[in-house]
Amino acid sequence: KRRIAVMTSGGDAPGMNGAVRAIVRMAIHYDCEAYAVYEGYDGLVQGGDMIKEMKWEDVRGFLGEGGTLIGTARCMSFYERPGRLTAAKNMILKGIDALIICGGDGSLTGADKFRAEWPSLLEELVNTNQLTAQDCQPFQHLNIVGLVGSIDNDLSMTDATIGCYSSLARICEAIDSVDTTATSHQRAFVIEVMGRHCGWLALMAGVSTGADYIFIPENPPSENWQDEMCEVVKRHRAKGKRKTIVIVAEGAHDQNLTKISPTMVKDLLSQKAGLDTRVTTLGHVQRGGTPCAYDRMLATLQGVEAVKAVLEATPETPSPVICMVENKIERRPLLEAVAQTKKVAEAIEAKDFQTAMKLRDAE
Ligand code: ADP
Repeated sequence: KRRIAVMTSGGDAPGMNGAVRAIVRMAIHYDCEAYAVYEGYDGLVQGGDMIKEMKWEDVRGFLGEGGTLIGTARCMSFYERPGRLTAAKNMILKGIDALIICGGDGSLTGADKFRAEWPSLLEELVNTNQLTAQDCQPFQHLNIVGLVGSIDNDLSMTDATIGCYSSLARICEAIDSVDTTATSHQRAFVIEVMGRHCGWLALMAGVSTGADYIFIPENPPSENWQDEMCEVVKRHRAKGKRKTIVIVAEGAHDQNLTKISPTMVKDLLSQKAGLDTRVTTLGHVQRGGTPCAYDRMLATLQGVEAVKAVLEATPETPSPVICMVENKIERRPLLEAVAQTKKVAEAIEAKDFQTAMKLRDAE
């Protein structure tokens, strides 16, 4: 029987468990054996009990659980070839040559590197007498399929990543809570949200809660943003608004790439706009809790597609990543999606914000 393993890696995201459940059950449905690799690439490098067979009932109740029940980690040794060599050996010892990874762009890059190296890893395992040619013979090709699990919605070529809508919902709930107290006291609140170098969470949270001003990395404010922001805020107040909400993405900066911090914005609102201002950093609350209905659905549909992609793969097909494109589940070449994602960060670094926005728009 074919053995398919699933792993979660990098930052956790609500909905990852739904993906694990769908992959395990779909693999069993197609008469394969399902395995889970615990604790991300750490588990692959450690092997043994970290790679466990999963039966149908082992993933019962996973769909509504937040985080990842099979664990995730950042694994230093997988960046180096010796770590990947041990990982390859562990996979062959378990009879696994297909790995579905739910993680961010880092995890997916690592996975594709692993696949590209696979034949030479097997050769080295045989040459160093760690495995025999006979052991390796049935496992000549490594199948990699990616699912994007990330609250940031920062991968190109997919409209939504698993976890981003749960995180957005949580951020909106938190801002709604802040709103009531802000309105009562006529206060201003500066809210910092996650997203690394992606402004999606900040922008969508701002749109969804009617924020007064939003700072995102892809579209930094004009040179004299300090005055402009205070003007906007004062104008809203003059129209009778009793509260002010400014959202700052964690990667926000000005046109010179100088970080715009929540305290900086708070000081401006206090001193220049004369508002009683507080800072609220939402932090890890944004990652936690149960996945919303959309993420459960996305994880399930993509998990199903991932298993199909494994079973249809040939040595010639490039590793796919399962995407959501205009409401359809589609496969895209994993490396292209990662390369496109890197282009956004590069454009920001080069202060080419027009290109950064265009690339994000095209996503
Ligand atoms: P994310 O997947 O959320 O972007 P990271 O970038 O931290 O998170 O990647 C998660 C793990 O994937 C890393 O700890 C490492 O084990 C592996 N990884 C990431 N990038 C690479 C790479 N270029 N080569 C090999 N492994 C990598």
